[in-house]
Amino acid sequence: MLVVRIDLTELLRKIGEEADIDEEERVSFPEDGLVLTKPVSVKLHLVNTGESVLLDGTLQAVAELECSRCLKKIEYPISIEVSEEYSKAPPPSEARRGKGIELKEEDFVYPIGADNTLDLGEIIRQNLLLALPLKPLCSKGCSGPE
Ligand SMILES: [Zn+2]
Repeated sequence: MLVVRIDLTELLRKIGEEADIDEEERVSFPEDGLVLTKPVSVKLHLVNTGESVLLDGTLQAVAELECSRCLKKIEYPISIEVSEEYSKAPPPSEARRGKGIELKEEDFVYPIGADNTLDLGEIIRQNLLLALPLKPLCSKGCSGPE
């Protein structure tokens, strides 16, 4: 699988540093049942807040899915907002787990690796998988195999 790395070295140098990513990535994740027919449009904004790196923006992709009734292949456009937080420090969730404080989803912070990079492919994979419909249909009135 293609791994697309975002190098954060420059961004991490100074608090308040910002970076923009505007790219098309040709990725596919067949092992997850996620086949993309076009390059994924990645538009992300990153900012170093000092405590963490905030990432937000949009992902646009077209997934090839199978209609859950007639099994015809369909193209399913996906356009989603992404908002994540990354930190060099150990995630706060780790520290809180021991104290019995309940975790909220917004508390989840991804760690930044020792090499100061983020795996853009993984960000794309996780967010697109969440956006896939459970039962895709080729049309609203699909009544199954002809
Ligand atoms: Zn169908």
